[in-house]
Amino acid sequence: MERVELWQTLQSRLGEVLDISAAIALMSWDQEVYMPPKGAPARGRQLATLSAISHRMFTHPEVGGWIKALQGMTPHAPDEAALLREAEHDYNVQTRFPESFVQEMAEATSQAFAAWTHAREASDFQAFLPYLEKNIELSRRKADYLGYEDSPYNALLDEYERGTTVAQLERLFAGLVPRQTALVDKIARVARPEPDWLRRSWDPDAQWAFGIRVIKDLGYDLEAGRQDKSPHPFTTNFDLYDVRITTRVSPELLFSSLMSSVHETGHALYEQGFLPSDQRTWLGQAPSLGIHESQSRLWENIVGRSLPFWRHYTPILQEYFPGALDAVSPEDVYAALNRVERSLIRVEADECTYNLHIVLRFEIERALIEGTLAPRDVPEAWNAKMKTMLGLDVPNDAQGCLQDIHWAHAGFGYFPSYALGNLYASQLFAKIREDLPAIEDAIAGGEFDALLNWLRDHVHHVGRRRMAAEIVTDATGQPPTPEPYLTYLETKYGALYGV
Ligand code: ZN
Repeated sequence: MERVELWQTLQSRLGEVLDISAAIALMSWDQEVYMPPKGAPARGRQLATLSAISHRMFTHPEVGGWIKALQGMTPHAPDEAALLREAEHDYNVQTRFPESFVQEMAEATSQAFAAWTHAREASDFQAFLPYLEKNIELSRRKADYLGYEDSPYNALLDEYERGTTVAQLERLFAGLVPRQTALVDKIARVARPEPDWLRRSWDPDAQWAFGIRVIKDLGYDLEAGRQDKSPHPFTTNFDLYDVRITTRVSPELLFSSLMSSVHETGHALYEQGFLPSDQRTWLGQAPSLGIHESQSRLWENIVGRSLPFWRHYTPILQEYFPGALDAVSPEDVYAALNRVERSLIRVEADECTYNLHIVLRFEIERALIEGTLAPRDVPEAWNAKMKTMLGLDVPNDAQGCLQDIHWAHAGFGYFPSYALGNLYASQLFAKIREDLPAIEDAIAGGEFDALLNWLRDHVHHVGRRRMAAEIVTDATGQPPTPEPYLTYLETKYGALYGV
């Protein structure tokens, strides 16, 4: 084939694979949002069929042949080179596993998920142990298929945060833990309870309407997206012009739905921010989970939990709940939204303690994969770390090592991307303050365009042309470091708690 024809053939196949992925995503979205419960078995089959078709289409040897042939036809324009590099990477990963292994993994994780659900309800680690052992064994085999240097955990990490290694994470976390722990210790001495004004019932319709108002203001294009309700909030996309989020609304919690909407909007703004010229191509995607999480956390925590933000939105919130918040000031909301409390549950953790939950999981799962910790010893290791890192006694495994779904899915290597998202977000925002000195005034005026445009230019438009750490380095002038995050935490919470 001629070069032009070869490109068209490859692009067209990749486009078809993306179309099927979009159909899978749409059916999964429907499963979470609208599907009646009795539809579950059929939906499971439909998803399995589509996944198999897409896998077959992408891993067909002719695809490998097209990529190789095109690679031989140098020179390449930068975008062509990036696209070939990314397609080749994914092709190599997906063709490395024998069919029987993929099948075994799918069955094991599906059984482990069911076992974990029951084990967590009963707080019975022993009931989950054989499934955990199986998932670890399979994950180590997976690392062998993928190949690695130094630690098998590196191979697993690569799936979520490509190019990041155990050695790098150890360095980052070693800088993080002592200072974050010291800050949390100081705050614990002056801890304050939840304010009384928050404790009442908040009209779900008003919460929903206020949330929509906010996410529109932030720049979420609802002509190319929508928000629905689901038990667990998430973001999904079927195309550049169809990016959806979900939230859950609870009458007792005034800010829970809002902050989850702002978080998911951070993800959605990223997905809506890929270049139109990258639509339906391999480049119109995020290079990693960590960089995706940097966007949601930047909007949720750095913007949505800031005082300027609430200077703008407190009077508006008061209009949505007539009479209920008349005595509440922006400072009151700011303090309520940034209350620090050592807690057992990761998903409820505040900004100051969150990364400690991640480091605990990283240390345990790495030891499990490297074989230096036996799966049966997980509860003991978990509880000991909880005591040293957060000073808490774990009353039962449901609130300890059984709380997260990740190990039931064999998602070893996933957790660190949350912490990296926090670090990337702070480092990006420190640069944004330099580049846009009036950014806080803009936020206090309800103006988010300049911020969004900066993110579009430095993060969103890049797509998969660069890896996450490269995007951060290009945008800020230095590789990812914990310093900006620590400075952010110490400044913000130092002032809030007077420590
Ligand atoms: Zn997220």
